[in-house]
Amino acid sequence: MNTNIDTKNKLFTYVLYISLCCFLTAILNIVHTIYVLKVEITTTAFIIPTVAGILFGAMLAHIKILSKKLSKIAYTDSLTHIYNRLHFAHFLDTEIDKVKRYGGTFSLIFFDLDHFKKINDNFGHRVGDEVLEKITHIVSSANRSADIFARYGGEEFIILTPATDLSGALIHAERLRSDIEKEVFKTAGKVTSSFGVTEFIAESDTVEKLLDRVDKALYLAKDHGRNRVEKA
Ligand code: GH3
Ligand code: MG
Ligand code: MG
Repeated sequence: MNTNIDTKNKLFTYVLYISLCCFLTAILNIVHTIYVLKVEITTTAFIIPTVAGILFGAMLAHIKILSKKLSKIAYTDSLTHIYNRLHFAHFLDTEIDKVKRYGGTFSLIFFDLDHFKKINDNFGHRVGDEVLEKITHIVSSANRSADIFARYGGEEFIILTPATDLSGALIHAERLRSDIEKEVFKTAGKVTSSFGVTEFIAESDTVEKLLDRVDKALYLAKDHGRNRVEKA
């Protein structure tokens, strides 16, 4: 499905750039023939600009597609295809600026898989990777489209929930915890996760304070026995 969309998008980019370049080289050639050379236009006079248009257009389309691929590599995690930590930091800075300037609120949900090392040790790294991919899918399906979901570290994930206060974020985190707990993974079986939740405090928070608080909430959930949601 996604591959189909990718192929269609690539094809569209090539057609668009080649058509535009052919059109421009043809216009330039007409102007040059009539006003500079002051001779009559012949059919063969269109062959060179068309070939040049195709080559130049294909080259531009190729550069455009490559630069898109490069930014995807820079912004997303290669295993789960969600945002990486670096790009999440950019969204977080933007959201903090927005809330400080225009008001409103947002919350962070930080979660870590429980005893994940055991999954790798018992079933191998590939099975661990499959669990990470499946969990990403479960969480992405439950998130709202405005939520920013990123892989923060090995088996740690973070969600920025815009326009959501602490009580709303706690409800969402509890739903995610339960969705993960209900899933029976193909080889690994049952997997649980621990959650920390916090709301941004516009008057006093910095990025560091906010991340530190949500990290503390997550470790409270670990300390209190795992497979639970804690707030800070
Ligand atoms: P806790 O409940 O305290 O979080 O225990 P844990 O075993 O989940 O925590 P720990 O930090 O000890 O282990 C995390 C493990 O995650 C260790 C590391 O090998 C594994 N891991 C990190 N990144 C990946 C990855 O991309 N793929 C796989 N398969 N494993 C990963
Ligand atoms: Mg863990
Ligand atoms: Mg961890």
